[in-house]
Amino acid sequence: MSRTEAPPGIHGPAPEARVNRRPAAAPAVERQFRGIPISPGIAIGPAYGSSEPPAVVTRQKITAADAEAEGARLDVAIAQSRKQLGKLRARLAFLPEDSQAEIGPLIDAYLHMLGPSRLIRGAHRRIAEGLVTAETAVNEEADAIGVAILATPGDEGTGRRRRAEEVHEIARRVLRNLTRQPFQSFANLPQGAVLLAEELRPADAALIDPARIAGVAAAEGGREGHAAVMLRALGLPAVLGAAGLTEAVRTGQTAIVDGTTGTVTLDPSPASLAAARRGFAAFARERARLGRLRRLAAETADGQGVELQANLELPRELPLIANAGAAGIGLLRSEFLFMNREKLPDEDVQAEYYRGVVEAMEGDPVTIRVLDWGGEKEIEALAAASIVPEFADANPALGMRGIRLLLCHTELFETQLAAILRAGVAGPVRILLPMVTTLAEVRAAREVLERVVRRLRRRGERLPEPLPPLGIMIETPGAALAADAFALESDFFAIGTNDLAMYTLAVDRSTAEVAPLYDPLHPAVLRLVQFATEAALRMRRPVSVCGEMAANPRFTPLLLGLGLRSFSMNASAVPRVKQAIRALRADDCARLAHHIMERADPEQIRALIETFPVPSP
Ligand code: PEP
Ligand code: MG
Repeated sequence: MSRTEAPPGIHGPAPEARVNRRPAAAPAVERQFRGIPISPGIAIGPAYGSSEPPAVVTRQKITAADAEAEGARLDVAIAQSRKQLGKLRARLAFLPEDSQAEIGPLIDAYLHMLGPSRLIRGAHRRIAEGLVTAETAVNEEADAIGVAILATPGDEGTGRRRRAEEVHEIARRVLRNLTRQPFQSFANLPQGAVLLAEELRPADAALIDPARIAGVAAAEGGREGHAAVMLRALGLPAVLGAAGLTEAVRTGQTAIVDGTTGTVTLDPSPASLAAARRGFAAFARERARLGRLRRLAAETADGQGVELQANLELPRELPLIANAGAAGIGLLRSEFLFMNREKLPDEDVQAEYYRGVVEAMEGDPVTIRVLDWGGEKEIEALAAASIVPEFADANPALGMRGIRLLLCHTELFETQLAAILRAGVAGPVRILLPMVTTLAEVRAAREVLERVVRRLRRRGERLPEPLPPLGIMIETPGAALAADAFALESDFFAIGTNDLAMYTLAVDRSTAEVAPLYDPLHPAVLRLVQFATEAALRMRRPVSVCGEMAANPRFTPLLLGLGLRSFSMNASAVPRVKQAIRALRADDCARLAHHIMERADPEQIRALIETFPVPSP
């Protein structure tokens, strides 16, 4: 199917694509998948299906005393696998009927194998009798079943091979859930590979090296989930929520990820390939043009200065920030320092990391947000230290997360505050509290901070003078609506529109199915932003926007019109937003904001935003 023939929606896999690996001789027919555009740009390269390589399992023995716990671990991984497949099944409704008919039975077969099947019974027996780890048990049982299937007489060879491959495929899924390190092999990907996954956790995204991987697409995920945030931060062309993608991918085939339009093309036709190459070149030219804005001031056409800062998740983003011309870091998401490691980083490790960032900013301020664990941000080291349960609560977005967790585990909080204070002697830092909903949390956090200051003084540590300001994220409706009271207790606000929109609209930010409902232009969200901004301005508290809304130059006139003058965003968005700011006049923006805030219909608001002229600077 050619690119131009593709109707809106998704093209399912060809009939022969029942399993991930189709026969090599299958004719390459272009297929296109529509998803959510996450990070602009075009990637062309060999596909790498993340479920392809079996997790490396070395045979490991356990003791008889551990067998029961090992069996329980296997059960948890099976439950997790069933949950994932259940989600995939629910998403079939988004595929055309022929693809539903094709993939549905396959998912059912997988779900069946996760029941009391030979694979699962056999794996449990191997743990109990052979005293091996769950990984080894699953691997060995899948191998044994595969061999038995292939040796069964009286069946056609391709059918047997396919059934054996299905057993291995489901075993791989259980293994990935057992090891919980699904993408360790990222480092071995061929240069320029396009990563095509079922789902990308924020911790997986943190392992991606943008110098090696050309682009990313996944079947799951929403626009403002943390994996999406990471992909934008890395400046990688990316598409999420492309239903049907995983079932069709064959490692090694050519793939195009167009992060601007939200399409993924497998085995592109020569015409599609040529169009993608032209798009790639045009994007590179545009990036070079925007790069020239780096040294120009971020000020409106009528001379109002605006602070443009970068969000930082990983140290590897630092050069991008320097190139983008950002004036400091408005949000350092420290949770990424805690991910993908066995042990929690201690005070020295953290202090060194923060100091490195502060020094790299050469005097520009760095706002460090203390650990915001919760929701989709899984951190294995916290589970290993028994600080959080290994598997999340039924409703993790509303549970023990952000500042709540830190105030329960003050040892974790104190360690991080001590590290930030020590780094603060290298340059200006601010401390930001996540997921605040009550004044008591701010007061308690300040007390902990004062205690840590006293302890460091006793230890003879050098501390910054004055001490870093303590601010809060405004990212829940509760915090936004009580912003006037919070302004009395906190030194600054950072408005997190990602969670603010999620909690206001009751729409998960990383779930593809409800992505169309996730709308930061909903009047309820805008009114909360306005209320919080006005409270801060009245009380003369610095206020910024650090959610993804700040990164969209289409929203810049509205945000300026609401009185905001400080934005923090992924580094690659800074030049585009700066370009918009330089073209705008503050009084025009104020008029636009006034009109918008009188409206209650998101469509009318969108129309006002889209038709508002942003002149060329
Ligand atoms: C937000 O919620 O808008 C925010 C900036 O925080 P995070 O995206 O890390 O949840
Ligand atoms: Mg948030």
